[in-house]
Amino acid sequence: MLIRKDLCVGCGRCQPYCPVGAIHFEELKSAVDQEVCYECGTCLRSEVCPVEAIEESPFVYDYPRALRKFFSDPNATHKLTGIAGRGTEESKSNDVINRVLPGEVGMAIEFGRPTLGMDLTNIQKVTRAMAKAGFTQIEPENPFNDMIQNYETGDLKPELMGEKVLSAIMEFKITPDRLGLALRTIKEAAKEVDSVFVVDVYTRVGPGLTIPREVLDPIEAEGYTWRPNAKINMGLGRANKRKDP
Ligand code: SF4
Ligand code: SF4
Repeated sequence: MLIRKDLCVGCGRCQPYCPVGAIHFEELKSAVDQEVCYECGTCLRSEVCPVEAIEESPFVYDYPRALRKFFSDPNATHKLTGIAGRGTEESKSNDVINRVLPGEVGMAIEFGRPTLGMDLTNIQKVTRAMAKAGFTQIEPENPFNDMIQNYETGDLKPELMGEKVLSAIMEFKITPDRLGLALRTIKEAAKEVDSVFVVDVYTRVGPGLTIPREVLDPIEAEGYTWRPNAKINMGLGRANKRKDP
């Protein structure tokens, strides 16, 4: 994001809107620290500037900086998938996207959070650990595929190492017998990660809305507590992809 010095009157109203403190005073006007800025667009969307001095950089979609925009601005549409908001329809919407089938376990690692993003070097610590443990496949429509240099090692593309994101979600699916190893690997990798991330586990519910024990057992065995979250389809959507076998 940029602030036009010729227009800015130095009122400072925009500064509290930046979730990462990238806007500061410079000679009585506001300026954006380009290294700190995630290109989330919050300052511009807030429409708080009385003189419209805040404007998007013409280079915001240049590669590799565009990564910041795709994974930090909920209004940005990822160029690879054409989907806004982290570039994926997300396994959370499984009732319509049909990604996780009976007998499968969907997993997601949600890196960073608003106000506390994550740089790609930290994300790579997790992708490398997962690859080393044999988790080398990523959901085909997940934008992480565009960031991976080597699936066997979990290396990300080297040109991305200077970039960071407010929130990116890596999705994959496994069989239930590998869930314990996946959780153990992620927990171990977390010790090296200098930020926060969330781990999601998805499954189809069984008869009577029961959660399969083959999914719950490894979660509990690895020392995690769990709570059931669900998105309820009110009948306006229907499964539109990948029919059950
Ligand atoms: S685009 Fe986001 S991170 Fe950048 S200055 Fe504006 S609010 Fe801060
Ligand atoms: S709100 Fe606008 S005029 Fe006020 S400091 Fe920010 S950019 Fe400058």
